Amino acid sequence: MKKDFYEILGISKSADAAEIKKAYRKKAIEHHPDKNPGDKEAEEKFKLAAEAYEVLSDPQKKAKYDQYGHQAFDGGGGGGGFHGGGMNMDDIFSQFGDIFGGGFGGFNGGGGGQRRVKGSNLRIKVKLTLEEIANGVEKKVKVKRKVQAPGVKYKTCSTCNGQGQVMRVTNTILGRMQSASTCPTCGGAGQTIESKPTNADAYGMLAQDETVSIKIPAGVVDGMQLKVTNKGNDAPGNGIPGDLIVVIEEVEHETLKREGENLHLDLYISFSEAALGISKDIDAVNGKVRIKLEEGIQSGKILRLKGKGIPSVNGYGNGDLLVHINVWTPKNLTKEQKQFFESSLTEANFIPNPEKTDKSFFEKVKDMFS
Ligand SMILES: [Zn+2]
Repeated sequence: MKKDFYEILGISKSADAAEIKKAYRKKAIEHHPDKNPGDKEAEEKFKLAAEAYEVLSDPQKKAKYDQYGHQAFDGGGGGGGFHGGGMNMDDIFSQFGDIFGGGFGGFNGGGGGQRRVKGSNLRIKVKLTLEEIANGVEKKVKVKRKVQAPGVKYKTCSTCNGQGQVMRVTNTILGRMQSASTCPTCGGAGQTIESKPTNADAYGMLAQDETVSIKIPAGVVDGMQLKVTNKGNDAPGNGIPGDLIVVIEEVEHETLKREGENLHLDLYISFSEAALGISKDIDAVNGKVRIKLEEGIQSGKILRLKGKGIPSVNGYGNGDLLVHINVWTPKNLTKEQKQFFESSLTEANFIPNPEKTDKSFFEKVKDMFS
């Protein structure tokens, strides 16, 4: 069971934006990896707090979460450079770096305490139709990436000797305190520019258009984030590139409504079709599907077409297509039609007589969500 986001940040559900930010800042500082080197539990807590803050600091996501809980963001966690709800350290720093007051893009915490600056992440939105979501799709997107300019030369920073950090000693009433802070000369990169072409920026970078191909798995959800490793901005010197974060945006389908992995369709049939029964071609996500309606079908009936929904993003099968039957009552009857219906008023088989198997609307709705 996933822990409640409000609980993680130690705030009440009525906390406002300022309180949420303050609470996150406190947790982030408490569990910051710089303060807890090698402490996996602190790192986990740090990540959880960031995840909670990512949702609660975004009014739209917060509203979703307040209504549906963790389910609102379910479907994440697959392999292959893909992450749904979960976050990694680089994302946290690139998204919320400002909260720590630093200007850095992120850092790579791996390998024997050696720091390598990481370029900042890029974010783009990709619009997908329901059909693309149902089948998975490969999208080519254009991004403007910062890359090291050709001919740029870096040298070891003389202020920090390539460490990216400087130690500062201050005298306080408690005695001499030593603290590490980001090198003001190189901004933590450990390297400064020796020479660069005139068109490069202060870090020796150039903006460059690049087309990136993104494989989007079937079953993604609106708001989900996919990560393309190393396709963000380059870092100066021997740093490593940031990542490209792809945010999924689902384009609403004309007739099909999505609810998780299931799809819903409102089907209107005529009074006569309901009475006689009929075969109909209906919209499904990959084109039309023929369904047969039995004679005497009731308005409000829900037909479940197994497997005709959206595949699970984790690969656990498909959702269903639920067809909601709506019987259209004729308006503006002709004289003859009026006579026919008037004569049927006393006909025994025209008088409503629901059996126990004809579930009420409320029972059907209950079934649908159970
Ligand atoms: Zn330096």
